[in-house]
Amino acid sequence: MNRQVDLFVIGGGSGGVRAARIAAGHGAKVMVAEEFRYGGTCVIRGCVPKKLLAIASRFTDLFEEARGFGWDVGPTSFDWSRLREAKDREITRLEGIYRRNLEAAGVETLESRAVIEGPNRVRLLATGEAIDARHILVATGGTPFRPAIEGAELAITSNEVFDLETLPDEMLIEGGGFIALEFACLLQRLGVKVTVVYRGEQILRGFDDDVREHLAQAMRKDGIEVLVRTEVKAIRRDNGHLVASLTNGTTRRVGQLMLATGRVPATAGIGLEEAGVTLRERGAIAVGPNSRTSVDSIWAVGDVTDRMALTPVAIREGHAFADTVFGDKPWVCDHENVPAAVFSTPEIGVVGLTETVARERHGELRIYRTSFRPMHDTFSEEPSRMLMKLVVDDESDRVLGVHIVGPEAAEMIQLVGIAVKMGATKAQFDATVAVHPTAAEELVTLRTPVA
Ligand code: NDP
Repeated sequence: MNRQVDLFVIGGGSGGVRAARIAAGHGAKVMVAEEFRYGGTCVIRGCVPKKLLAIASRFTDLFEEARGFGWDVGPTSFDWSRLREAKDREITRLEGIYRRNLEAAGVETLESRAVIEGPNRVRLLATGEAIDARHILVATGGTPFRPAIEGAELAITSNEVFDLETLPDEMLIEGGGFIALEFACLLQRLGVKVTVVYRGEQILRGFDDDVREHLAQAMRKDGIEVLVRTEVKAIRRDNGHLVASLTNGTTRRVGQLMLATGRVPATAGIGLEEAGVTLRERGAIAVGPNSRTSVDSIWAVGDVTDRMALTPVAIREGHAFADTVFGDKPWVCDHENVPAAVFSTPEIGVVGLTETVARERHGELRIYRTSFRPMHDTFSEEPSRMLMKLVVDDESDRVLGVHIVGPEAAEMIQLVGIAVKMGATKAQFDATVAVHPTAAEELVTLRTPVA
């Protein structure tokens, strides 16, 4: 007789852990299996360690700015292994919290790869044990995608970059999305000479054109080489270095090459197709709004569904699933007006529609835009610029999108995201008294549309 549970969760990342805890809170008997480390990509090799590295990298700018404010900054130096060890201690601490929270909620945690053997059966590969489950939740996340280029195996991905023994003098990063740009900016500030190679016309496809242009310019000003309409054709090893041949006919000799060319859902080899679960393009699990797959007893949340690959979204999807199935409180995660940030330097915060998409959907718009020197840069010899842009529907006066590039953009977008989510109008933005002197006050003092 197999052990029996109400819910078996495959994957101990953000979505799976939230679902497991909430389901257990509703009285369900729950098991979670994780084959790597509890916490998932976000905690172990994603958002959390990346933000710590970004913070470390920005001291470079602060040392520089401090001089303008009257400080004499002595010689500075940076120790990568000390930062890496501090980061490792922190993620181990967080991993422990994840596990303890699960156990405190009464969830049984397992360290094993789990494979689906049928609509209601899972097998643990570590022990060979089969478990019968009323419901199965797949929350296995995603994994870096490597394009089929010659020598791709010589490159690292975001899985390895956090644990490099030493930082290279020069690094090439392929990709123009979140991971490529965040790492380009932070590594450059930690002393690595970075080249970004992107296949499209402009980095950050899908973001507002002004944001894309602003970040590309800022990165180039900071000394990062940003090549567009270019791809890596082949990579070979040469005397302890890597040589990348690019489609523009040039080569780059670097210490490390990182492929940040997207992530794909981790659906291979876990028995999904055998169990009858329908997959979509890129191997993503097809789900309805309530996260149910084509098999009634199997559900999926987070990156594995390729809906919106953001930790807080996975958490909400997992929470909604658990409330719906075990708590008699049905609700679905709303994927509209989700605020998001890119932790490049300068930072990006966005919520709502880009100008291009808003024009397609809404017609007449009013665009408010400003670019100014952040106060931190008052005494800088080469000050940076901050960008703020509001996209407003002319007819309803509703603010459809807010786009910010500059210091603390992520913090700002979290707050202004509430207003956008509530459907605030430009008049309501205008009725809000400014906090002076701040950068964020620009959001409520923009009066003249530029278009
Ligand atoms: P992204 O989708 O953001 O970027 C992938 C990049 O790789 C794009 O520029 C894409 O180009 C390019 N690319 C894709 N395939 C190829 C190929 N075959 N050859 C060359 N270039 C290619 O993915 P990331 O890996 O950066 O991040 C994955 C997801 O994780 C993000 O989309 C985001 O949802 C999430 N994330 C969120 C973060 C945050 O919230 N701050 C941080 C990091 C990740 P093209 O644009 O032309 O398709």
